[in-house]
Amino acid sequence: MSDNSCDLAIIGSGLTGLSAAIAVYCKNPELKIKIYGIPFDSNTAKKGEIENIPGIHKIVGVDFIQQLVEQVQSLNLEFTQEKIGSEHKEGTPKEEIMEKIKQEFPILEITNELVKSISRSDKSFNIITDQHSIETRSVIIATGLPELKHTIKGEDEFVHKGVSHCAVCDGALFRGKKVVIIGRGNFVARGALFLRKYCRKITLLCPNDSLDCDKRFLRKLDLSSNVAVKYNIDLDGIEIYGNQTVEGLRYQEENEMKELSVNGVFIELKDKPDLSYLSSLNIELTEEGFIKTQPNNSTSVKGLYAAGTVKSELDYAPILMGDGYKTGIFVAEYLE
Ligand SMILES: Cc1cc2nc3c(=O)[nH]c(=O)nc-3n(C[C@H](O)[C@H](O)[C@H](O)COP(=O)(O)OP(=O)(O)OC[C@H]3O[C@@H](n4cnc5c(N)ncnc54)[C@H](O)[C@@H]3O)c2cc1C
Repeated sequence: MSDNSCDLAIIGSGLTGLSAAIAVYCKNPELKIKIYGIPFDSNTAKKGEIENIPGIHKIVGVDFIQQLVEQVQSLNLEFTQEKIGSEHKEGTPKEEIMEKIKQEFPILEITNELVKSISRSDKSFNIITDQHSIETRSVIIATGLPELKHTIKGEDEFVHKGVSHCAVCDGALFRGKKVVIIGRGNFVARGALFLRKYCRKITLLCPNDSLDCDKRFLRKLDLSSNVAVKYNIDLDGIEIYGNQTVEGLRYQEENEMKELSVNGVFIELKDKPDLSYLSSLNIELTEEGFIKTQPNNSTSVKGLYAAGTVKSELDYAPILMGDGYKTGIFVAEYLE
């Protein structure tokens, strides 16, 4: 297989994409895999500590990504050494084997490149980045969700000083306190219901006229005496204030300035997946703009799979790793 082709291109090198790569390698170490994206630019690498990965008590996100990257690199090294060992025994000079391996491998490569477009030609896909283009037999999309480019006034100033971007991760730190959660959708509804267990009073500020969440969440929110939901809140009109830490928040409701005395503000504004680089594939999406998949994570385009939050998977590290791993197993089977 030439340097311009591979068996599988994984687009996204966060914990979903890296888990998929490990799964494919373990299932079939002969498959050539290229991993696109920047591991240290993934959500996990950029955000705080993770405390809910079974078997790992507590780990800083960037360290966890570092471990995954090292694991991927060590698998590659193991394969290369095995290959040199086996071919050397057959009498080929070591230099010749090295040259051959250099041309054909690495079998597992993290490119650190962003993909500009993916197109389909006959039986393969063409992946184009700023620097290269390659042909691949299959693709896994694991590019996660971009953060909504909307900064609430005071957000940067009070991050880790009362402002958090993950209610389920940090909610317990606000036991007995009054808090605000900002956003919409199932993610935020679940977050508010989670906070209910710890916090004295939760105010949910929703930018739309509806929460756009599952009815069961809505019903539970309605029944929660310590949760208040405010709709049509202009995000530009929100201001977090305090001294060393968050002390309160101002917002506009029906042209009137309101003020809440709170200790915590959870900002959970997530965008839809950015799938512009897939536009030529006419891939089937859900009504909300996520990639539609089958139980094996295959999509409407043969040979193209999706894993993690791009297909609206629950945004928890262990689930995303499992989803990436599962996808890797199914793709390895597809390639066989
Ligand atoms: C603030 C915060 C805290 C969190 N804390 C926890 C926690 O404590 N516990 C927990 O279980 N979960 C937590 N989560 C949720 C979860 O762990 C993350 O959302 C997870 O990082 C998602 O992983 P991912 O691999 O799917 O996507 P990401 O981490 O977003 O990775 C996406 C990857 O895709 C790449 N990419 C993007 N576009 C392209 C392109 N065009 N071409 C190539 N590559 C591309 C990026 O470079 C990156 O490598 C948290 C989430 C947030 C936002």
